[in-house]
Amino acid sequence: MRKIKMLLGVCTLSASLFVSCSKENPYEEELNPQYAVTEIDTVEQSELIERLRATLPENAEEKLRDFSGQFRFIDGQFTNQVKAAIDGDQYECSTDDLPLTEYTGYLTEGWSLFEALVYTFYGDIPTYYALFLDEDVNKRAYFGPNGEYTNQVQRTFKDLSRFWDINAGDMELTGMHFDTYLDLEKSAKTLQLLYGGTIEENMETAEFLKEITEEYETLNRENGAIFTFNAFAFKGQEVSPLGFIPDKIVMGDGIMQGMDAIGFGDVAAQAILAHEFGHQIQYDNGYFVDVDPEDEPEATRRTELMADAYAAYYLTHKRGATMNWKRVKKFMEVFYNIGDCGFTSSGHHGTPNQRMAAAKWAYELAQRAHKKGHILSSQEFYELFEEKLPELVAPDAEENLAISTENRFTEAEK
Ligand SMILES: [Zn+2]
Repeated sequence: MRKIKMLLGVCTLSASLFVSCSKENPYEEELNPQYAVTEIDTVEQSELIERLRATLPENAEEKLRDFSGQFRFIDGQFTNQVKAAIDGDQYECSTDDLPLTEYTGYLTEGWSLFEALVYTFYGDIPTYYALFLDEDVNKRAYFGPNGEYTNQVQRTFKDLSRFWDINAGDMELTGMHFDTYLDLEKSAKTLQLLYGGTIEENMETAEFLKEITEEYETLNRENGAIFTFNAFAFKGQEVSPLGFIPDKIVMGDGIMQGMDAIGFGDVAAQAILAHEFGHQIQYDNGYFVDVDPEDEPEATRRTELMADAYAAYYLTHKRGATMNWKRVKKFMEVFYNIGDCGFTSSGHHGTPNQRMAAAKWAYELAQRAHKKGHILSSQEFYELFEEKLPELVAPDAEENLAISTENRFTEAEK
């Protein structure tokens, strides 16, 4: 069995069943997947792939691309390949040893081409169901496969809406669940949205997906966490043929389970939600700027580090989540773990070091406001961040100007 890398979202089904992908691709780094996919080596696998192929509509890849290309949501996985804009050599960066990377590696352990194809063509069903079809939002929403994060997430959402000065009244909050595959109606409705046809016409595929997600441990491992391993912020817009979809934050069970598994369960849900809320502030106040494709990695890094900083400020502030130093250290580790080295990717969120530095800066800012209990307006905070940004992203490869992994806490602990 020869190991090959699975490349998300860009794999195509060729006539001979094999996946053809380009080797140099940013998606690989973006989700830190480290997927090692084996070639077909059993009769069972090739039969499964045959069945899977039979469910795919004509031009499935095109349809998927057209659908996802209609809108943009922050932190999502569908982004365009762009040219290099940041010199990766200038930064100390590796995600290989991050506990979260190990966790996603475990989620996809033993995957064959079959699982990779399910993921590529049907892996976004929970995402799109949550974003566009799920009516169980806000107080009706639940978080975690068994609702284990519901209180934490609901409470934090309410608190964030009070803490920041944007109008969050029309914003919706919803959960993303692997269970979507187990409900034929939900699954068929989402398939209809992605690939067209009627609900009835999509029922057979929905049944196939239910069968395989129930049956295969490689797909339902840890409650199918790999399929909900994301959280994102959506800006309200028209989506054909559904009509207007309001501002929304979607929290996937998988990312919260993953953080829990590596020991950050008590802070991660709050930290991730506060980060996504930061993106909603950016939408409302117009902090996203349109840039040329080659400048996109840098632009994304800016808005991502800013969202980390908004989150850290809220999490630390006396009138926010008031986390003590022990928990602050943990949430900084959360951001560190979701850093990436995809310097050429339009989805580049900043390196682990940079994300940690942005969070630490905002933590210190909130500490200084501690006595007075004053909360900066979102605009005041933004201006301070913009001033600080060049320092946060300064090259750190040789000189170790930014915080290195060894001494990243020492300064704040003084
Ligand atoms: Zn983000």
